[in-house]
Amino acid sequence: MPTETILLDHRTSRSEKHAKNKDASLIKIADHCVACGLCLPHCPTYRKTQSEADSPRGRIALMRGVLEERLPFSERFIEHIDLCLTCHACERACPNNVAYGELVDGMRVKIETKRNSGFLHKLALRHMMTRPRLLQAIAASLRIYVKSGAQSVVRKSGLLKLLGLDKLERNLPPLETPVRWKSIYPVLGNARAEVGLFLGCIARTIDTTTLRATTFVLNRLGYTVIVPPEQNCCGALHSHSGERETAINLAQQNMRAFDHVDTIISTASGCGAQLGEYDQLLKNEFPTFSRKVVDIATFLNQADGWDDVAITPLNAKIVVHDPCTLRNVMRQEKSPYELLKRIPGVDIKALPGNDQCCGGAGNYFLHFPEMADSLVNDKINALKQSGADYLVSANIGCALFMRLRNTTTIEILHPVVLLARQMGFIC
Ligand code: SF4
Ligand code: SF4
Repeated sequence: MPTETILLDHRTSRSEKHAKNKDASLIKIADHCVACGLCLPHCPTYRKTQSEADSPRGRIALMRGVLEERLPFSERFIEHIDLCLTCHACERACPNNVAYGELVDGMRVKIETKRNSGFLHKLALRHMMTRPRLLQAIAASLRIYVKSGAQSVVRKSGLLKLLGLDKLERNLPPLETPVRWKSIYPVLGNARAEVGLFLGCIARTIDTTTLRATTFVLNRLGYTVIVPPEQNCCGALHSHSGERETAINLAQQNMRAFDHVDTIISTASGCGAQLGEYDQLLKNEFPTFSRKVVDIATFLNQADGWDDVAITPLNAKIVVHDPCTLRNVMRQEKSPYELLKRIPGVDIKALPGNDQCCGGAGNYFLHFPEMADSLVNDKINALKQSGADYLVSANIGCALFMRLRNTTTIEILHPVVLLARQMGFIC
């Protein structure tokens, strides 16, 4: 046998062995499920379809069957897994601590190796979201596209449908003025401490207001803000879409970028949850990183310097949306409520139905618009009945999706922006 063939066989058998080991570890997770069904009422897709195959228990049974090769790796199986929002509500409800998120993410890596995801999907995940400068350039072009009036001409031409971009274009969010980030935002005089700010790929492009408001509040309280220029996308979308290798590369880049800071502040809970899972993703090679990550509201609740700042009262009713990542993964959902109490005069309530995902779920709303719209309609209906002046959400993805579908005049914003405004921040 030629040497080349022997080497190839050797490599194949090693990769097969690795895949078998991976399958065995996923089966082990699935084996923890005792099929009690206590997670079912917490699962948004099960609530909507009432189908066992769209419930956590059903999905776990299907995944175990496929991993053990008792069930076929069929299109129908993939559809049931794809329809999962990765909201982790089942994980939070499970009395047996089944690591559902790890199981479904592992399964999605297998699914990606079997199916050939579209060219545009791969291009976006591997080559656009991993290049913040390119993303900003695209955002700048889109701003021209919207402002010049070209948008309505292109929409009428039918070109978008032809290119398969119509869904994406319809969901184009309002694009904020770009910011040229400095690497440091110092305070005048002695700083209390230095903190790192995670920008995120989408947030730095379309939610610059929240990032600027965060820097403003931190500086006011006496914290110097470090913005490492080498930071990149958190990799959440990659992790939940089976693009694990890219997610690992991004994790390594961000760990290097924030190596010199002890606290990393995240303003989007979707990013914060992913940053907090880096140690697990990298098999605890750097076990200290995740402990440095904190949501902005949690950080500000423990911060010093509040006695030195003035906060203007606000006579308003605020309803708070709990993003799944803040609630079910970071478990810091109380923080925004605590933070908003610093504004005198506000009436703070939870948005009814907060235990259910809004349907945004990263790019889920683009792939499953029917399920996503049904879920977001529940939020908008609850908002309509709330009589609120503001809806606050600590995750940019949720806030954007709810803004896109918001049929009320109620403003949807990040809690830090509302607080910063009362401290003199000008949007
Ligand atoms: S995932 Fe947990 S809660 Fe759901 S059926 Fe299995 S053991 Fe019960
Ligand atoms: S992650 Fe969410 S959508 Fe998926 S099975 Fe669990 S509860 Fe259901």
